[in-house]
Amino acid sequence: MVPLFSEEETAFLDGVRRFVDEYVLPQTRAWEDARGFPADIWQRMAPLGLTAMTLPKNLGGRGYSCLAYVEACRELAKGDPALSMNVAAVNALCVAHFDRFASADQREKYLGGVISGTTEMAWGLTEPDAGSDARRVQTVATPIAGRPGFFHLNGEKMFITNGGRAKLIVIIARTSEKELSAFFIETDQPGFRLQERIHTVGVSASNTVRFTLMDAVGWHTPCRFEDAIGLLFRGRLGIAGMAVGIAEKAFELTVEYAKEREQFNRRLADMQSVQNMIADSAMEIEASRLLLHKGAWMYDQGMPIVTEASYAKLYASETSNRVTNRAVQIHGGRGMTRFYLVEKLWRDAKLTEIGEGCSEIQRLVIAKQVLR
Ligand SMILES: Cc1cc2nc3c(=O)[nH]c(=O)nc-3n(C[C@H](O)[C@H](O)[C@H](O)COP(=O)(O)OP(=O)(O)OC[C@H]3O[C@@H](n4cnc5c(N)ncnc54)[C@H](O)[C@@H]3O)c2cc1C
Repeated sequence: MVPLFSEEETAFLDGVRRFVDEYVLPQTRAWEDARGFPADIWQRMAPLGLTAMTLPKNLGGRGYSCLAYVEACRELAKGDPALSMNVAAVNALCVAHFDRFASADQREKYLGGVISGTTEMAWGLTEPDAGSDARRVQTVATPIAGRPGFFHLNGEKMFITNGGRAKLIVIIARTSEKELSAFFIETDQPGFRLQERIHTVGVSASNTVRFTLMDAVGWHTPCRFEDAIGLLFRGRLGIAGMAVGIAEKAFELTVEYAKEREQFNRRLADMQSVQNMIADSAMEIEASRLLLHKGAWMYDQGMPIVTEASYAKLYASETSNRVTNRAVQIHGGRGMTRFYLVEKLWRDAKLTEIGEGCSEIQRLVIAKQVLR
């Protein structure tokens, strides 16, 4: 059998698992209560390789495969889904931007800080009137006279992951009536105005914000809208990895619980209705994992993954929601309390059906490819 991972990737994933078991999982409740991660979380993750997993080695990254990236997202989600979401988005959308579109000057200025975890990042596409319909972005970019490559950005962005902590944000903005492109903005400038922290029902430790840009200075990273948005294919696999990790954790906890809890003089695990739920969850998790690995493997072979990314994201996210729902059901009343992690996983799973393209958009993508 061909090994799936290089020795370096195997060591990396072992390190991620240890980090999850020893540091992340024990604090996931505290981070949710505090509605935030520790201030040094990215700097802690940097030596593990989590800040620049897939960035090529010649740019200072680890150069790991997409398969290693989705596995890292999956492992992190078993400890804290919100952290997994952040790592998935920052690596696939923000750090990848340096690989694909940034100039040598931009890399020189920012990449060191990004890789070391001192320059936290975010990716800003969504706006109040541009969600699923991403082409409706209304943030406008106007060239600044006498400063080639620099633009004034005006508009509003919402639901931006890590936006309240980020020092550097990739902004998708309109350069003409028909064209959109991407810009780096530094948040430490008067034109960047944080408007509110958005509190969500799940993934609550993640710093999700709404902000406005008022003549904010943006540094153009020339790319077509389609190219910038194309980063979402690998990003969707990251969210699928997150979904599988959530489902696996909820399933593991539920199997343990079903073996311990007794009613009617037998274990829950001995009741056929419960067994049916366990069997369905086991099978759906396995199918999600296979779709995830197939999509990542195809990406690593240089093959297009438009459909496969949507298969994996759609199936894994809906599985994650079904599995966590069954997990709460099998835990009964206890499943609805804070004493059992399954209620948190159930809430966290919801994001995977919405972020980086809701389920309905994934179905549209698949149908479009099938009906071509
Ligand atoms: C916690 C969190 C973190 C996020 N992080 C980021 C981030 O870092 N950067 C970023 O840019 N965005 C981010 N988002 C935004 C996210 O990508 C959007 O919420 C998502 O794309 C859906 O857009 P919307 O919320 O505007 O919903 P809408 O587009 O208003 O859609 C609402 C619902 O309408 C239905 N629908 C919409 N269009 C169609 C259609 N064509 N066919 C059928 N049904 C349809 C779907 O059921 C959909 O769920 C984040 C969101 C959340 C909740």
